[in-house]
Order: sequence, then structure tokens, then C-alpha cells
Amino acid sequence: MAELEGLEFGKSDFVLLDEVTMEQFMENLKLRFEKGRIYTYIGEVVVSVNPYRQMDIYGKDTIDAYRGRELYENPPHLYAVSDAAYKAMKRRAKDTCIVISGESGAGKTEASKYIMQYIAAITNPSQRVEVESVKNVLLKSNCVLEAFGNAKTNRNDNSSRFGKYMDINFNFNGEPTGGHINNYLLEKSRVVQQHDGERNFHSFYQLLRGGSDEMLESLHLQNDPAAYIYTKEGSLAKNTSSNDRSSHRAVMSALEVIGFSPEEINSIYQILASILLLGDVRFESDGESVQILGLEAVGHVSELTATEADSVCKSLLFRTVATGGGDVIEKGHSEQDACFGRDAFVKALYERLFGWIVSRINSVIEVKDYDPALHGKNTVIGVLDIYGFEIFDNNSFEQFCINYCNEKLQQLFIELILRQEQGEYQREGITWQHIDYFNNQIIVDLVEQPHKGIISILDEACLSVGKVTDTVCLESMGTKLAQHPHYTSRKVRTDQKHGLCVCKHFRIRHYAGDVTYSIEGFLDKNKDLLFQDFKRLMYNSANQVLKEMWPDGQLSITEVTKRPLTAATLFKNSIVALVDKLGCKEPYYVRCIKPNEMKSPVLFDDARCQHQVAYLGLMENVMVRRAGFAYRQHYARVLQRYKMTCEYTWPNHLMGSDREAVEAIVTQHGFQDDVAYGHTKLFVRTPRSLFTLEQERAALI
Ligand code: ADP
Ligand code: MG
Repeated sequence: MAELEGLEFGKSDFVLLDEVTMEQFMENLKLRFEKGRIYTYIGEVVVSVNPYRQMDIYGKDTIDAYRGRELYENPPHLYAVSDAAYKAMKRRAKDTCIVISGESGAGKTEASKYIMQYIAAITNPSQRVEVESVKNVLLKSNCVLEAFGNAKTNRNDNSSRFGKYMDINFNFNGEPTGGHINNYLLEKSRVVQQHDGERNFHSFYQLLRGGSDEMLESLHLQNDPAAYIYTKEGSLAKNTSSNDRSSHRAVMSALEVIGFSPEEINSIYQILASILLLGDVRFESDGESVQILGLEAVGHVSELTATEADSVCKSLLFRTVATGGGDVIEKGHSEQDACFGRDAFVKALYERLFGWIVSRINSVIEVKDYDPALHGKNTVIGVLDIYGFEIFDNNSFEQFCINYCNEKLQQLFIELILRQEQGEYQREGITWQHIDYFNNQIIVDLVEQPHKGIISILDEACLSVGKVTDTVCLESMGTKLAQHPHYTSRKVRTDQKHGLCVCKHFRIRHYAGDVTYSIEGFLDKNKDLLFQDFKRLMYNSANQVLKEMWPDGQLSITEVTKRPLTAATLFKNSIVALVDKLGCKEPYYVRCIKPNEMKSPVLFDDARCQHQVAYLGLMENVMVRRAGFAYRQHYARVLQRYKMTCEYTWPNHLMGSDREAVEAIVTQHGFQDDVAYGHTKLFVRTPRSLFTLEQERAALI
């Protein structure tokens, strides 16, 4: 436990508090924030408070100070856990992961970038070209993913609107050989609509403000975000235009470095331009049929997507449907359907573009020709930077998914840090103090349980033959979940005169607080319907890159599966897979806290911070840690590593058991008060004892 800083900076590990009370915890957190000490440990967990200012703690000197050192040798830092994860991976051939959590704007993405920079800086000292190029692509991918996946929101000027999990692969030498990125639920609704004061994805403004005149001309665009419906709202956001311009250059160069071909880069921008142009297309009904207003834009879209203008018009105005008798007919859209169809189309265009960019990056960094027999075990460090818990004024389907994801991650945290820890003491017959913690499994079940959970009820409503409205679905949820302690339907008086009450909201008591969701739009977003006509249109594009993004467009209307998985179910499946993936790795945690809502470097909002400390379960974490032991190891492994440091065990011990031999080592070095002996393992309370052993060992070899 780090005690290297003076006491005027507070306790660098919450485990060292005199008393574990919320009051002391908060006092320490605040003191450290005010003294510019943004990191504090709970054992191996890093608690980080967003400083909202540039800190001089990420330079080369700092990296050198942390490289290869133990956690307790330096003041708390992200670099120390990064190094711990790296060492565990290298020394013990363990797959590890670093899970970064916290609410929007708490500093997760910045943390993930520092972690990656650190790992890049400490690996490949011999500067092998292949390794350098892998590292370079990994680092550059951030810039591209942020351009296409981040946006300015009211909470964060650079908010990630997708979840990211990145695996970095290492060879037996501990050099990065490749990686893989998984992305989760991009908030595609942002393409067509943003909240007041928020922006669309950065990529649009970067293109419009940073693209050269020739480029914009060839894309039929003007250099002004205010000129397009999708970017108009956000064009007013302050202090962003110069960033947009320089970011555009950075993104273009990153795309090139990663290995995107000029045709591919061109296609990316053609898709962005098509989206902007489609946004300005309007429809008008004369009572009988619907016409397109803005045929010029449609012409440009057809040119940019390498499709026939007639086909684009047709896809916007008609849909092909299979009749009960097996016939295929064309059905004209109503004005409303046409708008719905266009919005669904541009959202899908953007989502698929993003997914394609990720898979293209993956194809560059995937580990090729790795033969474990030849090169030793390939190990992995995973870094998870995923959206934190969200409570907005108006919470919709996206917040529902995001908050469910956070419930799952909290489950994993409880599982790994709290329950496993206590379970192990019990198994090993070591006295421990039971720590109560809130188990949020009940909320996870509320959302995901088959047949009974909210996702199942939503899916049922989406797949039912008759038209089920959002409100009807909500009523069904209300009936089925009435008894659930974490669920309430909220009635809202919609008709003052007759006192009519309609259910429009439901509330979930999440582990992080109560969230009221508006049911409006849930079913549409869950169905995520996109007319097959658009898919076919894109599949028939003469642009190979675009075509590649729409493989499902080759299906004819009669072949299309009738019951595709819903958005919520797809998301649930991806999160379950993610949790499984994380669960079999050795986890390291970074828990990020947002000190205030004003993005201020000096404000520490006590109530907001305390709320975060509470729902992140940090107090329970400290208590478990205090009751517990920092390190544990099987007797045989302790012996194997340290037997040379003790005369009774070197070269072989003659004692009855390995346990007795380990006792001899511990006694010889004088830290018998700092350990407990389990049935199969030695438990060491503070890392310092282990450090003594390591030093003794190092002196002898
Ligand atoms: P999150 O990913 O949790 O939503 P970000 O990592 O994007 O939050 O952080 C939001 C903003 O806070 C950043 O754009 C940056 O201005 C500031 N910030 C976060 N972490 C740091 C840090 N370690 N040093 C300086 N500024 C930071
Ligand atoms: Mg982020």
C-alpha cells in the first residue's frame, strides 16, 4: 500500500483510513482532489477523479518511474495498474483485463488512452518494425473511432456514443502482436436527432469544416454545418470549429496510417455526404401519392453511392411486400412512412459504416500466422471503456440498454472482487469478516430473464402480429411486473378535463439510482425496422466498399427472415458475451468519478461525488479489502519462487509439508504477523512483505 506521499495529500490507499466511514472516505477523496492527487487506491483498484485540466503526470519520466515497478513503490497511478496487468500477463501468462467504469464525463476514455499509451511505451524496447506498426495502428485507431463514434453532449464535449472493448495480444516476449476491437451499441439515433445543445457525431462537422474545397465540391457539400438539417442544431456549439478542422486532418492521416486505401477513404466520406444530403430530402403528399422534394439531392446521393437515381427514389417512396399468397407487390409509402424509412436508412448507413471501419481496423491488427507451438502462449490484455450509467431528463431505449449494461458490469465486479474474495477465505478456512453488499442480480433479472423480464416483454410486443403500441406494451409490463420491488409503472395525467390517466413511463430502481424511462419509441427502436428495399439498393451499388457493408441486401423479399432478433436482444447477447470474456480474465479496475457538472477543475460537488462513491460500491470494496489480504499464492508456488531465500528450504526442504516450509521462509524474514495460512495457500496482508521477499530473491539471482 502506497505511503510514499506526505500525509498532507491524504491517504493514498483508502484501506489506510483510520475508520472506514463514508465521511472519512469523502474527506480523503476531496483532499486529494484539491491537492491535485487524482488517483487513489483501494488495494489494486484505482479510484480516479476527473481533474478537468492538463496534469503533468503522463510524461516519459513518469512512465519510466512506473515501468516494471510494484504497485506500492510509487504514488497511485493508472500506470501502476497498467504495469500490474502487464506483469501478470507476462510473468504468469495470464490473460488480464482493465475495466474502466464511471458515468459519462468521468474520464473513462482519457484513462483508456493513457493505459494504451503506457503499454505502448513500455513494450518493444528493441523497436522491431512489425511490433511498432501494430502499436501505431492501435494508437491511431482511437482517433478514428472517436471521430465517428463520439459527439458533444451536454455532459461531455467528447462523449463516446458507443462501447469499446479492445483486446491487445502479446507474444511470449510480452510484445504486442495485434489486437481486436469490439464495439457495442452505437447511438445511431443521434444521426437524425440531437438534444438541445448537443451535436451530431464529430465526423460530420470535421468533414464540413475541415474538408478541402475540392473534396467538398466532389461530395456536393457546402463548408457549413448550419446548411444541413442533421448538423444545423449542433453547428452552434461553441469552441469547436478549430478542433474540427485540425481533427479532420488527423483523422485523414490516421486512416492512411492504419492502411485504408484511397478508395476506401473516399467511400467513407461519400457515405457521410449521402447521409447529410438525404437529411434534407422532404416528402410531400397530394392526397393520393407521395413525391420527393429535393430531387437534386437525390441525384447527388445516387452519384455518391454509385446507384441509379431511379432506384434511390423508388426505395424512398415504395416498399416491396410479400403477400400472404406468396406474391410480391410494391406498396407506396405514406408521407410519414417515407420519413420513417429515410431516417432508418441513414441511421443504418452510419451504423454500418462505423461497424465496417471497426472491422477494417481489426483486419489490419488481427494476429496472423501465430503458432503457439512455435511462439509460446499468446496472451491478452483487454481494455474496456464502455458508457457509464446515464440518467437524463428524458430517458429512452438507449439509456435503458446502457443502464442494463452497467448493471451487468456491476454484477461482474461484485462477483469478482467481493464474492470471490470472501468465498476464497471461506474455502481456505481463514477467518474473515462478512461484508454486506447489495447484490444487484435482482435488477439484472428484471431486465433479462427469459419470458418474464422487460426485454422479453418488449420482444413479444414487437413480434406480435397485430399492431401493439408503446402504451399497450407498457400496460402489459405493468401487469406482469407489478410485484417487482425494482419496477413501477408511472401514470401521467394526459387529459386534465376528464382526468384521463395514461401510462407513459416506467421506473427502474437501478443499483445506481432510480431512472424513469419514457416508453415512447421503445418498440420502434427495439424492432429497428429497415425496409429490405434499402438493403437491396445498397447491395446493388457499383461501389464495392459500400456493397460489402450490405451483404443482407442480396436476399429477396421472400427469403428475408420474418423474425429477426430485436435490438435489445442483440445488445443483451453482446453484453452477455462480453461479461463472459471479461470473467475469465484477471481483472483490474479503474473507477472514475466526475467531480462536478460544470467541467470545473476546482469544484468538488460533495453530494454528486458521494452518490457515485455509493453506487460504485467503493465503501464495500474498502471493507472487503481491509478484512482481507492483498496477495495469496499456493504453497508450492511460493516455495518454488522463494526457497532460495531461506536456509531451511534451499535447495530442498525436509519438512512435513510445503506449508511448513513456507512458514519457515516467512518466519526467517520476520513477517509472520502479516500472513495467514490457508488450507492450500499463503495469504499476505500487505504487499510490502512480498516486496521484501522479491528483493531478497533478486539479490540472490
Ligand atoms: P468519459 O469517457 O468517462 O465519458 P472522458 O474520458 O471523455 O469521459 O473525459 C471527459 C473530459 O474530461 C475529457 O474530454 C477531458 O477534457 C477531461 N479529462 C478526463 N480525464 C482527464 C485527465 N486525466 N486529465 C485531464 N483531463 C481529463
Ligand atoms: Mg468516453
